[in-house]
Amino acid sequence: ESIISFKDVKKVYPNGNVGLKNINLDIKKGEFVAIVGLSGAGKSTLLRTINKMHDITSGDILVNGESIVHYRDKSLRKLRRNIGMIFQSFNLVKQSTVQRNVLNGRVGYYPTWKSVLGLFSKADKQKAVEALRSVNMIEKLYAKVDDLSGGQQQRVAIARTLMQDPNIILADEPIASLDPVTSSAVMDDLKRLNEELGMTVVVNLHSVRIARTYASRIIGIRAGEIVYDQPIENVKKED
Ligand code: ADP
Ligand code: ADP
Repeated sequence: ESIISFKDVKKVYPNGNVGLKNINLDIKKGEFVAIVGLSGAGKSTLLRTINKMHDITSGDILVNGESIVHYRDKSLRKLRRNIGMIFQSFNLVKQSTVQRNVLNGRVGYYPTWKSVLGLFSKADKQKAVEALRSVNMIEKLYAKVDDLSGGQQQRVAIARTLMQDPNIILADEPIASLDPVTSSAVMDDLKRLNEELGMTVVVNLHSVRIARTYASRIIGIRAGEIVYDQPIENVKKED
């Protein structure tokens, strides 16, 4: 019943850097997991092995009960469609509208010959509206991305990833470049997707304070190893 499972996972980069040492980890459907640790601890490596942006050196990773290490082509596309990925840099097309950027989330995962040419169906446009509503950004549908604040751009990036109907969201330092107020708006969105749509959320964070506010479980990682793993109730008791 784990949605994500790491079994003795090791990741050594080609240059010899150790990304992950020996990770054993089970994440259940519907959890909101915060991964905290200093820069270079391995947070980003851990997240990126889940959708196979990075391959592992040894061990096994299961998503939805299936080993992903030999996934290629069709199975890999399906895995990545299932997993929405959010980055510190929002990776949006800044000169385009919010609507166009959100619709782009559809092309990579459900391409049709029309969408490849930038022509979207009424259903896709309706879906984009719903995605923007989920992140409270509907009033910016026709705004240019460049005119939005960083926090608003990140929320558009979240809406874009909703277009692929993910059931897992991985967020790699999503608020690292944002001020506290807009950070909260982004974290509130992730929390809402977790609570209302039942999405499993795994988010890398620098801030333990933010992790404590939003997560149901906090995992601490240092030098490629899990050194802390507690449900939020226990974290709060420790003070
Ligand atoms: P964090 O996300 O916690 O900052 P990373 O996962 O980025 O940590 O990095 C973990 C370790 O792996 C660091 O020593 C880092 O330098 C190394 N590393 C990360 N990406 C690469 C890469 N592409 N090539 C080589 N080493 C890498
Ligand atoms: P971020 O905060 O986004 O993790 P980093 O500076 O840690 O930024 O990494 C930026 C990119 O460089 C990532 O793709 C990471 O995998 C890669 N990287 C990180 N450390 C190393 C390294 N020691 N050697 C090569 N690539 C690295």
